[in-house]
Amino acid sequence: MRQHKLEQGEEAVGRLNREHWSRRVTVAGLAIVAALAGCATNPVTGRRELSLISEAQEIQMGKQAAQGDLQRLGELPSQPLRDLVRTMGLRMAAQSERPQLPWEFHVLDDAAVNAFAYPGGFIFVTRGLLTHLNSEAELAEVVGHEIGHVTAKHSVVQMSQAQAAQIGLVGASIFSSTVAKYSDVLGGGAGLLFLKFGRDDELQADDLGFRYSLAQGYDVREAPKVFTMLGRLSGGGGRVPEWQSTHPDPGNRAQLAQRRVASKPDSTFRSLRINRDGFLRLLDGMVYGENPRQGYFRGTRFLHPDGKFQLDFPTGWQVANLPDAVVGMSPDKGAQLQLSYAQGTPAQAAQAFASQQGITVRQRGSAPVNGLPAEQVVFDAQTQQGVVQGQLVTVAYGGTTYALLGIMAPAAAARAPEVDAASRSFRALTDPAALNVQPARLQLVTLDQAMTGAQFAQRHATGGVTAETLYLINNIDATTALPKGMVLKRVVSG
Ligand SMILES: [Zn+2]
Repeated sequence: MRQHKLEQGEEAVGRLNREHWSRRVTVAGLAIVAALAGCATNPVTGRRELSLISEAQEIQMGKQAAQGDLQRLGELPSQPLRDLVRTMGLRMAAQSERPQLPWEFHVLDDAAVNAFAYPGGFIFVTRGLLTHLNSEAELAEVVGHEIGHVTAKHSVVQMSQAQAAQIGLVGASIFSSTVAKYSDVLGGGAGLLFLKFGRDDELQADDLGFRYSLAQGYDVREAPKVFTMLGRLSGGGGRVPEWQSTHPDPGNRAQLAQRRVASKPDSTFRSLRINRDGFLRLLDGMVYGENPRQGYFRGTRFLHPDGKFQLDFPTGWQVANLPDAVVGMSPDKGAQLQLSYAQGTPAQAAQAFASQQGITVRQRGSAPVNGLPAEQVVFDAQTQQGVVQGQLVTVAYGGTTYALLGIMAPAAAARAPEVDAASRSFRALTDPAALNVQPARLQLVTLDQAMTGAQFAQRHATGGVTAETLYLINNIDATTALPKGMVLKRVVSG
């Protein structure tokens, strides 16, 4: 859960739900204008294809989604890395089939190893991805791939096809969208991602990425390394990024990348740029993995050092720390509790919630939580699955208002006391060790002598950092021969 970043006039309890809601309304609205759009020529393939949305709409939808991500996740503090991604991306985009789009390139301060593209030219790479790359040329392959999704209009075509399925959901209650959204996250699915592409789209984007990188003078012989890294990452059970969310097997993609290289004459590869050391220097000192300052779990206890609070979810619940909320779900999946930011005083936030359509208030009043000013609303909510019971507790603490929203399906109504006790466990975090926790960071090491990967790992796999992590982030293995003077990454715990 990131530091409080809401803007004036925004109201978080509703916002979490409305996010899905507004997407659906937008999609439904698109059907109405479908008659105006019709067939369009694909800029990359030159083929005529059905497109239900115009370029102006494409840009508007992409911009909206991009602004949401920027607000939720925030940009990486490192200006040089942001400049690198932006400059590289803008150069590639200017030479692409759709130079007229309002291209934007951002680095999100997110630990997930991911890169993705929104329609209209809004491209994101994450801090987690950068920590796993080893040269500017590898980064170029990723950025070029994402540009490829936009120039080949993958998301636009996909959106057209997704519409029929989505329109039926417009009438769904805000509660079922919330339940569905967090069920995905807690179930380990890839529910965090807005768009996923099919195998053919991914391979085409790889192809375009190769072409765009090469046009900018990047050594595309580095591209297979990105796929090797992704293959190892998915084998290690990491969070699923866009790059491997769909069918193409990374090993297969690495082979295809090698075949693309082999199809070019040798003269192609004269004086191409890799920039390994310069790129690595930009990563020195960067946060590695989840940043515990933004909240972390110790069992089912959630601690938030920057917000200086803690919360105990019931024992045995599944829990997750998301950018805009902390969520928990009972083992039978019948009950959920989410913590998020709210706007206004506890009473104002409770009022805003209670006045929503479909809510029947059973009980309402002030009910302090561990000495903190708080309001409670016990309610029934009408959903497609029938009437759902719930309670909202809004608490003022440290100049911020927090909302604890508990929801119970009919079969889990007996969990009401458990949900109430968990909501009322919200309190100040006072443990100095927890308050002072620091994130792990990348640190560069210049080898003072030649060694193998195993020897490197033996020296530097300390403080909970495994040899596998060092192999993964450096894209080496135990038998790799590392020459004297080579620069490698290690992880220094906080
Ligand atoms: Zn892709």
